[in-house]
Amino acid sequence: MSAIDSLPPLREVIARHDLRARKQLGQNFLLDLNLTARIARAAGDLTGSDVLEIGPGPGGLTRGLLAEGARHVLAIEKDARAIPALQEIADAYPGRLTIIQGDALQVDPLAHLTPPIRIAANLPYNIGTELLVRWLTPADWPPFWQSLTLMFQKEVAQRIVARPGSKAYGRLALLAQWRCDAQIVLTLPPQAFVPAPKVESAVVQLTALPAPRYPADARVLSELTAAAFNQRRKMLRASLRSVHPEIEALLVASGIAPTARAEEVGLDRFCALARALAAARQVA
Ligand code: SAM
Repeated sequence: MSAIDSLPPLREVIARHDLRARKQLGQNFLLDLNLTARIARAAGDLTGSDVLEIGPGPGGLTRGLLAEGARHVLAIEKDARAIPALQEIADAYPGRLTIIQGDALQVDPLAHLTPPIRIAANLPYNIGTELLVRWLTPADWPPFWQSLTLMFQKEVAQRIVARPGSKAYGRLALLAQWRCDAQIVLTLPPQAFVPAPKVESAVVQLTALPAPRYPADARVLSELTAAAFNQRRKMLRASLRSVHPEIEALLVASGIAPTARAEEVGLDRFCALARALAAARQVA
């Protein structure tokens, strides 16, 4: 196995800094640097980009991102024990790695980043979906980032790329695919991590589109999909009853059968319904 840099192997780093994995921090570390370089390559050409990494831990993916030529990496890590290990990487790549110790849900990264910006992370499972939803729902589009390359539990990854008609299809798929291209680029077995989690993992690549795929008001679309998928087994004329008194007519006008269930309806139809609903409310 060829070395991607001149730094010590990750097992040695973890032992020296006593970085035993803590479950409450969602710590499942990737120790194979060829694998982390592969994930970094999935993020695209990094040479002209700043990269935001959440939860670098002992720095396996960080090293992959830097070895693959990222212009600058901003790494936000909650666990103080990992900071000295990350500092060693910063010393090996002068001026290219900034480390912030803190909670990624609280820290505003933008002051430390220069566009173009990509985001890459092996996310802690407990905040992964919350961070993704935040990145997908800014007030303005396009967002501050060009692409997201994110490791999730495979079940979550499948919900992001799901198509209508499948069990995994829901709000996350609609949110992601409305304004991004989304695909699974890598699937990993539990043994790829230390400690091994119970389930498989997958890397999802999301690329921000310059504009949403179909026009719609973000808040109306969000309201509709929440109501529709909260009662996903019900027909839409029932699950959306509280949204508008004339919902059956709005469904028909949007090309959706009132008896259809949310999981059968594609993104284009949900956007058409969001436009019809917004127009009906304006008239009322
Ligand atoms: N990137 C490393 C790797 O691939 O080996 C570690 C990934 S591990 C799944 C998740 C990392 O996120 C851990 O290092 C953990 O300490 C960190 N973390 C957990 N909660 C965090 C939070 N709220 N903000 C920032 N980092 C967090």
